[in-house]
Amino acid sequence: MNTKGIIIDGKLISQKIKDELRLKVQQHNNKHDTQIGLAVVLVGENQASQVYVRNKVKACDQVGIKSFVHKLDETISADEVTSLIKELNNNPNINGILIQLPLPKHLNEDKILALVDPSKDVDGFHIHNAAGLFLGHHISQSTQTPILYPCTPSGIIELVKSTGESIEGKHAVVIGRSNIVGKPVAMMLLSLGCTVTICHSKTKDLPSITKQADILVVAIGRKEFISGDMVKPGSIVIDVGINRHEGKIYGDVNFDQAKQIAKHITPVPGGVGPMTIAMLLSNTLKASEK
Ligand code: NAD
Repeated sequence: MNTKGIIIDGKLISQKIKDELRLKVQQHNNKHDTQIGLAVVLVGENQASQVYVRNKVKACDQVGIKSFVHKLDETISADEVTSLIKELNNNPNINGILIQLPLPKHLNEDKILALVDPSKDVDGFHIHNAAGLFLGHHISQSTQTPILYPCTPSGIIELVKSTGESIEGKHAVVIGRSNIVGKPVAMMLLSLGCTVTICHSKTKDLPSITKQADILVVAIGRKEFISGDMVKPGSIVIDVGINRHEGKIYGDVNFDQAKQIAKHITPVPGGVGPMTIAMLLSNTLKASEK
C-alpha cells in the first residue's frame, strides 16, 4: 500500500496539550487554593450528547478540572434553564459553562446560549466572543477578559500548525459555513494570513475550488464526500466530518484516496475529534485566568 501523506495524529497532539494543561491547572489550583470548575448543562436523553458529556468529564478529571454535570429533564422549562445559568454565572467556583447541544426543540438555543456570561462561555458560542473572533481580538475591550474562541476551529488550527508548514499566504478552502465550524475556522485562517475561500451547499463546481486549496478544511457531514481527485497535491487536509455508518465512523474525506495526494491529512476518528475536547479544557483554564 502506498503510504504517501503524513497522518496528523490528533490523539497524540491532544494528549500533549492535555499534559501541558495538567501542569498549568495544578499551578493555578495550588496558587488559588481552589479547583478550576467547569459546569456542563445536559438537557434530555440524547445518546450522542451523553457520550460527549462523559468524555468531557473524563478529560476534566485527567487535567485536574472539577466538572459539575447538571442533568436536566427533557421537558424542563426555559425559565428553569435560565435560572440555572444565572446561578452558574454568579457562582465563583464555576469558571466555565458549557451547554451541551442540541437542546430539545422547545428551548431556543440562541436565547439560551446568550444567557451564559461571555467570560465563562468556554464553547465560544456567545455573540460577544463571536464578535471578538471576527474583530481578531484576544481580550475583550469592554470587560478585559479573554475572548474565548470556539473549540473545534481552535483544534483545527492547532492541527494545521502541527504540520510545521508555513501558513501565511496559503490558499485555505473551508467547506461548510456553520457557526460552529466553517465560519469561525475561516476567520481564524484569515487572521493567520491565509487567502480564504468558503464553500457551501450552493457553491458551483466545488472540485475546481478544492483543487486550489493548500489547506483544505472539510466540515460538511457527508460520508467520504471529498474524493482524492478533488485534493491538491502536497496540501494539508483537515477532515472535520463525523458520519456514522453501519457501526463505523467515517469522515467527509475519502481518506485512502486523499492520503495518496495530500502531504498531511487527519484521520477520522483520531484527528479533529480529540482536539475539540483539549481546546475545551484550554478555554476553561483561560476563563479561570481572567
Ligand atoms: P452543519 O450541518 O451545520 O453544516 C454543514 C455545512 O456543509 C453547511 O454549511 C452546508 O452549506 C455545507 N454543505 C452541505 N452539503 C454540501 C455540499 N454538497 N457541498 C458543499 N457544502 C455542503 O454541520 P457542522 O456542525 O458544521 O458539522 C459538519 C461536520 O463536522 C458534521 O459531520 C459534524 O458531525 C462534524 N463536527 C465534528 C466535530 C468534531 O469535534 N470532530 C465538531 C463539530 C462538527
